Amino acid sequence: MLLDQQTHRDIQKLIAQGRRIPRVIVMGAGMSGMCMGIQLLKAGIQNFVIYEKKETIGGTWRENTYPGLTCDIPSFFYTYSFEPNPRWTHRFPPGDEIQQYFMNVFHKYGLDAYTRFNEEVTDARYEEGRWQIRTSKGTEDSAEFLVSAAGILHHPVMPDIPGLDTFKGAMFHSARFDHSVPLQGKRIGVVGTGSTAVQMMEPLSQIAEHTFMFQRTAQWIFPYSNKEFSQRWIDLMTRYPGLPTLLYHLQKDLLDWFLPAVVKPGLRRRLLAYLCKKHLDKVKDPVLRAKLTPNYQPGCKRLIMSNTFYDTIQKPKVTLVTEGIQQIEPEGVRLKTGELVALDVLILATGFNAHAYMRPTSMYGEGGLSLEQAWAQGPRALRSLTMPGFPNFFMLMGPHCPVGNYSLIAVAEYATNHIMKFLRMFMEQRFDQITPRPEAVAAFYKDVASALPQTIWSTGCKSWYYGPTGQPELWPWTAKRFEHDLKEPNLAEYKLDKAA
Ligand code: NAP
Repeated sequence: MLLDQQTHRDIQKLIAQGRRIPRVIVMGAGMSGMCMGIQLLKAGIQNFVIYEKKETIGGTWRENTYPGLTCDIPSFFYTYSFEPNPRWTHRFPPGDEIQQYFMNVFHKYGLDAYTRFNEEVTDARYEEGRWQIRTSKGTEDSAEFLVSAAGILHHPVMPDIPGLDTFKGAMFHSARFDHSVPLQGKRIGVVGTGSTAVQMMEPLSQIAEHTFMFQRTAQWIFPYSNKEFSQRWIDLMTRYPGLPTLLYHLQKDLLDWFLPAVVKPGLRRRLLAYLCKKHLDKVKDPVLRAKLTPNYQPGCKRLIMSNTFYDTIQKPKVTLVTEGIQQIEPEGVRLKTGELVALDVLILATGFNAHAYMRPTSMYGEGGLSLEQAWAQGPRALRSLTMPGFPNFFMLMGPHCPVGNYSLIAVAEYATNHIMKFLRMFMEQRFDQITPRPEAVAAFYKDVASALPQTIWSTGCKSWYYGPTGQPELWPWTAKRFEHDLKEPNLAEYKLDKAA
C-alpha cells in the first residue's frame, strides 16, 4: 500500500487529544478527489466536502465512453494501492470497468455523504485565513484548506478546421460520444491519431461500411497486447486476494524499470525505440508504412499501446488519409488535394486542453492575487502541488506532475500523502497558514529546466504535454523520484505563518 498509514495514526492521536481539526474543501470527485477524501476518512477527519460539477463521480472515465475505451496502464497497477481489484477482465482495463471500480470504491468508503454533485466551485478566495468558496448553485462555504482535484483531460479541444458546423451528418468530440448515432454500415471519419483515435479504430472498423482515419501526424505505437483474462484467472484472483496486490507491485516495478526511458537517454530508450520500429514492420505495404512512420523519436508524444492498430489500418474497409484536411463540407471532408471524402459520421478525437487545471474556477490568493496574475508566465507550482500567494492550497495533478505513461492513481496517492502531512502539522499548530517561498519554486524550476532537455519529450515533437510556455509541462524525472521528493515536506521551502 502506498498510503502513509503512520500519518493516519498520528492524526487519529491528535484528534483523540482534542487538537483542532481542519476543514478541507476538495474540488472534483474524480480519481484524485476520491483519493483525498479516502485519506481524510482513514485519518479520522470528517470535516470535509467534495464539490463535483457533474451528476456522478469519475472525471475522465465518466466523460469518455467511446467504443474501445481502455486505459493504457496495466490493470492491476491502475487501482488504488489499498483497493486491489481481482475482477479486471483484460490486461489493460476497459473504461466502463474503471468507472465501475471507482463507483464501488466511492460507495465502499461512504464518500456519498461528503460529496455534493452538480455543484461546481466557481469562485475561491483566500480571505481572513480561510478559503471562501462559492458554487454554481450559489452555496457559500469556507475551510482552512482547499484541494483542487479538477483533473487534466476533461476540456475537449475542438479542431480549428473551417466549415466544421456545416457538416450535415452526425459529428461529435470523442469525449462527448453520441451513442444515439447509428454507426452500423456507415461511412465514419475519425480525426486524430492519438490514443483515443487508435483505440476506437478497431471497434468502429468492425461495424462501419468504411472507416477513414484523418492523420495530421503519425504516432509511434508500442506493441502491447490487451489479453482478455479467462474466467479461471478471475476466479483465481478472487480466491487469493494477495494475487492482485502482488500483480500491482510487479506491474509497478516493471513500469518503474522501463520508464526512465522517457526521462534520460540510454539502453531503455533504445529498447523502446527498437520495439516500436519493429512493430511498424507489421505494415506490409511500404507506402502505407511510410505514411505511418513518425518523424520524431518513439515516446516523444505520449506512447500509444496497441497490438491491433496496424492490423486494423490494413483492413480493406479502413483508409488512412494523410493528404491534409482543407475544410469540412456538408457531405464530408474536403482534402487539400481537392478530393472529397464523403461521410455519414465525423468523430473528432482531437484531444484535450491539459493546461486548464482548476480553471474556469476564478481563484484569488493572498491580497487578491488572481490565478491569471500568478500564472501570467504559464502554470507553475512547487512539485506540482503548491503555489506562492495561495496559502493552504494544494493541487493534485498540477503543473509539472508525472502524467507521462504512469498510473496517475499512484501519483495521486503520493501527492495526497504529502498533503496529509501538512494537515498533521496544522493540527500540531506548527502553522496556521503555509505557502511555498517564491525562491523555492524558482529553484525547483531551475532543476526542471536542466532536466527537461534529457527527456524524450524535448526531442522534437508537439503534443498535449506542451504547455503555453512552449515547454513540456511534465515532471522531468521518474515517478520514483516524485515519490521520494514528496515523502516529507521540506519546511525550509515554505513560509509558515501563525494567525495574529
Ligand atoms: P491527443 O493525444 O491529444 O491526440 C489528438 C489528435 O488529434 C492528434 O493526432 C492531433 O494531431 C489531432 N488533431 C488535433 N487537432 C487537429 C486538427 N485541427 N486537424 C487534424 N488533426 C488534429 O488526444 P487523445 O487521443 O484524446 O489522447 C489524449 C490523452 O488522453 C492521451 O495521450 C492519453 O494520455 C489520454 N488517453 C488515455 C487513455 C487511457 O488509456 N488512459 C485513452 C485515451 C486517451 P497532431 O498530433 O498533429 O497534433
